Amino acid sequence: MKLFGLIGYPLSHTFSPGYFNEKFKREHIHAEYRAFPLERLEEFPELLNLYPQLQGLNVTIPYKERIIPYLGRLDKLAQDIGAVNCIRLDEEGLTGFNTDASGFRDTIRPLLQARHKAALILGTGGASRAVRYILEQEGLECLLVSRTGEKGAVKYNELDRDMLERYTVIINTTPAGMYPRHEEAPAIPYRFLTAGHLLYDLIYNPAETLFLKKGRQQGAAVKNGYDMLIGQAEGSWSVWNKI
Ligand code: NAP
Repeated sequence: MKLFGLIGYPLSHTFSPGYFNEKFKREHIHAEYRAFPLERLEEFPELLNLYPQLQGLNVTIPYKERIIPYLGRLDKLAQDIGAVNCIRLDEEGLTGFNTDASGFRDTIRPLLQARHKAALILGTGGASRAVRYILEQEGLECLLVSRTGEKGAVKYNELDRDMLERYTVIINTTPAGMYPRHEEAPAIPYRFLTAGHLLYDLIYNPAETLFLKKGRQQGAAVKNGYDMLIGQAEGSWSVWNKI
């Protein structure tokens, strides 16, 4: 039986094992997908020794960037982005890929319109890098927003009406608002949002975060992270099977 899995920590509310095991059952694929919570990334080589039959792994918080030194090779996209959410294990060793980026690209593209020329990206972690790479490829000017104002980002309290008029696409790549912290929302000035804005939240649980709800109440177009999640999972499946 083929073995696939997910590394990260903690993995208590994770989606991928359920998604892949249902897919394997439905499509009569003789494989299993398991969650491998690693409290410390230093346990990764031991995991590989324990499960030499592993053919593919997904990587989630907090290891998408720190996993890179453990990999023999990186695909060009993962290298450009600097984050890996998918690993293929085969005769060539361990190769890192980024399917978050393609999952995001395929799901935001249909929503982008001519008036969307500039984007605010909330958060500066691994997902933020993939989102920025794709939006810049799509021709949008990007500005990062962070709690600290580091890494060339602006702080939330610097956002004003003029900036929200200019940056009409706003992507939440922070965990603020994710279950069980669903009463939180990134601290942007929601009162300046209009029907001309597009709000995209990478969070998929709850389906409507407070961020999206506040945007919808101002008339903005909104999109949650569920389709991206399916896209990155199917993208990983294609990578593992060299499709
Ligand atoms: P990460 O590397 O931990 O980065 C998250 C960033 O958010 C941090 O760098 C931080 O930036 C900011 N942040 C953290 N806690 C915050 C808080 N309480 N309030 C405001 N900002 C906060 O995580 P990630 O891997 O990029 O993932 C981020 C989110 O995207 C997670 O919710 C994850 O589930 C989701 N995601 C979804 C998909 C999908 O397919 N739908 C794919 C990937 C990720 P600053 O310190 O600069 O503020």
